[in-house]
Amino acid sequence: MRPDRLNPLFAAADSLKGVGTGLARPLEKLGLTRIRDFAYHLPDRFVQRRAVANLDEASVGENIVVALTPVEHRSSSGRGPFRVLASDALGNICALSFFGRSSYSAKKQLPVGELRWVAGRLDQYGQMLQMVHPDHISEASSAALGQLTEPIYPLSEGLTQGRIAGLVLQALEQVEPLPEWIEPGLLDKMQWPAWRDALALAHKGEHPAARDRLAYDELLANSLALLLVKQSNRARVGTPLKGDGSRRSRLQLPFPLTGAQQRSIAEIEGDLTQTAPMLRLLQGDVGSGKTVVALEAMLIAVEAGAQAALLAPTEILARQHFETLSRMAAGTGVEIALLTGRDKGRPREAILMGLLDGSIDIVIGTHAIFQDSVSYRNLALVVIDEQHRFGVGQRLLLTQKGRRTPHCLAMTATPIPRTLTLAQYGEMDVSKLDEMPPGRQPIDTRVVAVERIGDVVGAIARHIETGQQAYWVCPMVRELETEDIAAAEARFAELRERFGDKIVLVHGQLRPEVKDAAMERFARGEAAVLVATTVIEVGVDVPNATLMVIEQAERFGLAQLHQLRGRVGRGSGKSTCLLLRGTALSETARERLALMRETQDGFRLAEEDLRLRGGGELLGTRQSGDTPFKVAQLEQLQRLLPLAHDDARLLVERDGGLTGDRGDAARLLLYLFERDWGVQLLRGG
Ligand code: ADP
Ligand code: MG
Repeated sequence: MRPDRLNPLFAAADSLKGVGTGLARPLEKLGLTRIRDFAYHLPDRFVQRRAVANLDEASVGENIVVALTPVEHRSSSGRGPFRVLASDALGNICALSFFGRSSYSAKKQLPVGELRWVAGRLDQYGQMLQMVHPDHISEASSAALGQLTEPIYPLSEGLTQGRIAGLVLQALEQVEPLPEWIEPGLLDKMQWPAWRDALALAHKGEHPAARDRLAYDELLANSLALLLVKQSNRARVGTPLKGDGSRRSRLQLPFPLTGAQQRSIAEIEGDLTQTAPMLRLLQGDVGSGKTVVALEAMLIAVEAGAQAALLAPTEILARQHFETLSRMAAGTGVEIALLTGRDKGRPREAILMGLLDGSIDIVIGTHAIFQDSVSYRNLALVVIDEQHRFGVGQRLLLTQKGRRTPHCLAMTATPIPRTLTLAQYGEMDVSKLDEMPPGRQPIDTRVVAVERIGDVVGAIARHIETGQQAYWVCPMVRELETEDIAAAEARFAELRERFGDKIVLVHGQLRPEVKDAAMERFARGEAAVLVATTVIEVGVDVPNATLMVIEQAERFGLAQLHQLRGRVGRGSGKSTCLLLRGTALSETARERLALMRETQDGFRLAEEDLRLRGGGELLGTRQSGDTPFKVAQLEQLQRLLPLAHDDARLLVERDGGLTGDRGDAARLLLYLFERDWGVQLLRGG
């Protein structure tokens, strides 16, 4: 249970003044549902505003505060904005422009003839000066004078800077000091402020030390939780699994294993013979052959008289694994079953029975395989595919399933940089598949301007005439998922004009049956083109699909592009990836796409991605990327994570039960960052 003193921080957002039903949605979108979230909603940046006596003193593009008196309200005609014409002390006119619903409040805030302080960015509109959606409008006077530093917060539709800033201030007022969890020596050395001060400072201006401290807190919480998992895992009892080779020797693979595969299997085999449950991460680029390694591991479990389960993130992938593994293991006499959320009634009962009486050796499925209604006779190994899709909490639940703690093998194709491996998987041992199966041809990657989309469609037509297949990937980048889906559907409709029923569509909002049916048509070769949102990112394996088009490629991270591209180049034929790019690209975006052309090494791309993003591509965008962190930015991660990890390790070594004073404080920290599963383990283990 969460310590009482944290309750005010976890009070719901609507305890703040001014948060009614209207704001709940936009706030939720930003993840702001509790007081704590507001306190940690850190500004993207700050603007320096200059107070000017009149508009002559300001230049276009500048952020200013100026006293203005509204002289006229001009209602919007049709689609134009609502404008308030306002005059400064010298009679210079500036138009204050408002779009959409904000015009209602503007009307009230800017009555004709009454002096107001207005803060915003001065622009030019035709011959006229204008401010679009001023950041602040107030009646107060002298407070607004002088140099002003103002936070700029991440926003969502329906919110304004002023609104958010006000709510954050209210939230901060409710923050009481907490005991220090950072090692005092480190705190001194870094000259970091205390926790509450750091929060206050981080909202006030550029305070790198305050920001670092807050990031460090988050990293420390994460490392600590992961190390507690590791600690509790060591104390648990698993089933030592020693295979006799009887099943594996009957495995007929169409290829020899790579050195890396053999090495990984040996490492896993070593772990499985131990009483302590295995907690191992198998990291290998897309196509490096993780599935076979998983199969070998599961066969060891079966040889030892136990059951194994393979958890896939999607139904599509579960099905595909089932088919692949059933084929590979055909000669081994092992009973393999598929269980997904869609299995109902009799077939489902039969599978549940088989798992209970042990007649099923290996089950493959989605999280349905770990529902309460599913019991195993002797589950001793859990393999989790595409680990990054699952949260750590979920990962832990799985290992509670057997009578004894099952061994756990997590697989991921996300080639994350070393620093992040530590952060995300700190509690695990790692095996790396750093060698590709032989015979893979490099994927010919090209960057094409979107204006040439007609040529691209032509290329697809020629491509499928040769009997090969193609992917067309639409990005998921808009604020609203539905808009992305709409874009994908629009593209699909367009392409269908050309390709008729040879084309299918897959996205996250289709019913599972519809989605699977489309996937299956594509996998069987009946459909030649698959239009998809990023749901195909994970695992889909159709060797005959050798052309991929990725729309708005500049909007994807390198790691994700790499994942997507890995869907082609699976067979021995030549494969092509066309990255469609928009027109106005930033320098970094260009560099990213160039890198995609240059290399196919996932680990290198991951490092570069971190470097490029860490450098801060755009002002005002969050850069935590695909990390599990909200406060710590990539650059801080690299700098501070090793420190946090060492610190956490020391703490666990000295006070593994978190019972001392610092241990107590550390518990608060774990709750604060919702890594409290770490604490739960303390009690359970
Ligand atoms: P991933 O690591 O992305 O899960 P898969 O296990 O799906 O990769 O393997 C990708 C492809 O490579 C599959 O078609 C698989 O049969 C093949 N493959 C795996 N290991 C080898 C190997 N040692 N030699 C040749 N092909 C292999
Ligand atoms: Mg895979």
